[in-house]
Amino acid sequence: MTHSADRAFVFTTLTSFIQFLCGSFWRTWVPTLGVSDKWESIYRRDRYRCTSPVCHQRNVTLHHVEYRASGGTDAPDNLTSPCAFCHLEGEHGGRLQILPPGSNPTWVLGRRPIMRVHRRERTLLA
Ligand SMILES: [Zn+2]
Ligand SMILES: [Zn+2]
Repeated sequence: MTHSADRAFVFTTLTSFIQFLCGSFWRTWVPTLGVSDKWESIYRRDRYRCTSPVCHQRNVTLHHVEYRASGGTDAPDNLTSPCAFCHLEGEHGGRLQILPPGSNPTWVLGRRPIMRVHRRERTLLA
């Protein structure tokens, strides 16, 4: 093998390896990227931050303010994006309530409500 043929071989191998890597990366991650997520517009509206005024974690999830089981729809004002903890441990764990509208929710904190938070306004309830 001549020197230039050697180089051509390396280049071809490297190119196809990079193509393989890119293809694998794409196939693996595209389904989890925001662009293919049905709720992308809601996460974007909420700036990819937990909608709790006292949290702001980035691992957002989708919550139906009026539960789907109670007839809540997929309308944007019925949707909000709390982080996984506020969503599952908080709202669905009974530690807080998220009140409508989803685009600008009021949060009631505490199993027995102790504080209502709407944007920067905090009201003690207990
Ligand atoms: Zn939920
Ligand atoms: Zn949160």
